[in-house]
Amino acid sequence: MRGFLIVGNKAVTKPFSLKDLAGSAGRMDIICRCIAQALFISHGIRRDVEVYVLLLGEPDPPKALKIVGSEVRYMAPDERNIGGIIRKALSLKVDYSWKRSTPGVYIARKNLIDLLEELSKKYNVVYLREDGVDIRDVACRLENPLFVLGDHIGLREEDEKTVMKYAKIVVSVSKLSLQADQCIVIVHYELDRC
Ligand code: SAM
Repeated sequence: MRGFLIVGNKAVTKPFSLKDLAGSAGRMDIICRCIAQALFISHGIRRDVEVYVLLLGEPDPPKALKIVGSEVRYMAPDERNIGGIIRKALSLKVDYSWKRSTPGVYIARKNLIDLLEELSKKYNVVYLREDGVDIRDVACRLENPLFVLGDHIGLREEDEKTVMKYAKIVVSVSKLSLQADQCIVIVHYELDRC
């Protein structure tokens, strides 16, 4: 299994306009692109991938999304389609347990610690950061990795401290600071070579 956890610092926690993903939805465009790059290949879906998104924007944070590649149906890789699926999930009443919204898409009230506690039982947490070890040196030794990455803001200091308590390793995909979805593409590329 491969997992990705994207922290959406401003991503809103109520239904939003699909016409303004990058603005009033709190950079939901980044989240949609990350989901697309994590899940989709040409004419198919990576069935061995799960994507988790922590939504920390107003008005009702925190909320978490879980997207399970092996269960997903009726999802297309474009931002508008994925945005619509997230919007539908955000219309549900949430509590601590995962609630199914559409096939393969779940939502719950969870914060970063809740998520990492749950996910570290089945994944080895890998923090993606520019100054980490070169992914090419470690990719083939990563078993059941969960890659944690930030949005345009990165990870706030306290969230980074939390991630570092769970992370087995800090990994870099480039000497450049890249966009989150670009990092996901590189991670898949390097792991697919193994
Ligand atoms: N201004 C933000 C900062 O300083 O953290 C930039 C965040 S970057 C657009 C989004 C996320 O992608 C980062 O939080 C990090 O997890 C990941 N990232 C970006 N470049 C990376 C690299 N070269 N190696 C590993 N992860 C990277």
